[in-house]
Amino acid sequence: MSRKPIIAGNWKMNLLRSEAKEVFEGVKNFVKDYTAVELPTVVIAPVFTSISAVEAVRCDCGCGGNKISIAGQNCHWEKSGAYTGEISVDMLKDAGCDYVIIGHSERRQYFSETDEMINKKAKAILAGGLIPIICCGETLEQRESGVTDSWIAGQIKAALDGISAEDVAKSVIAYEPIWAIGTGKTCDADEANRVIAMIRSVVKEVAGASAANSIRILYGGSVKPSTIEEQMSKSDIDGALIGGASLKAESLNEIIEKTMKLMSKQTANV
Ligand code: 13P
Repeated sequence: MSRKPIIAGNWKMNLLRSEAKEVFEGVKNFVKDYTAVELPTVVIAPVFTSISAVEAVRCDCGCGGNKISIAGQNCHWEKSGAYTGEISVDMLKDAGCDYVIIGHSERRQYFSETDEMINKKAKAILAGGLIPIICCGETLEQRESGVTDSWIAGQIKAALDGISAEDVAKSVIAYEPIWAIGTGKTCDADEANRVIAMIRSVVKEVAGASAANSIRILYGGSVKPSTIEEQMSKSDIDGALIGGASLKAESLNEIIEKTMKLMSKQTANV
């Protein structure tokens, strides 16, 4: 496994501050027993109002808090100003975030986010020193009409437009077929791997082979402890973006643990 896997929990609009803190502490208590080398990159994206609550339990005392990164679920591309209801990259950074999820299908679908907006956000996030987790994915209708690959290639090209190869290399992409989100219906692991390999070839086309080899591309859509091993054993899947199963520490920890086992098996085989 040449790329370090990422296990990221997207809590969406769930969990009050006390609940968020409790789940975060449950994950923290699990990861504390492992080294950063043994663990995948663990990222949790709480709602904005809970970022400070989870940030408060991150420290370097050995409790494991510093082994979990925090992500924002969205941001605006401007630094500050009259944008009621929005949040800037600097504000997320100031609150303790290292990552920002952008272009989630729920934001595209319910809040009319366009490829152009997602590209501006990606550039602002990278300029601010954070890492974008850029989401893409097709609807069931698009899949059934055979346009999945061209649709996703278009989303990726638009999102990465004008971004340097160096910045593309450190970015993260999440392939989340819309029909698999929250439905319990995961995409077949071979098919998810095929689409992700296709995304990697698009990255190669726009940013070169080195960026394509470095960028981490995750799968998302009804990932559960029972699906993660098969998904993570595929050549191009570098991790998972998890909704429902990340809302409970037990299931997120199980996903992290199974990922670690695969990581150590693959290291042993090198
Ligand atoms: P589920 O894991 O609940 O299907 O959600 C996936 C997702 O949208 C993560 O961003």
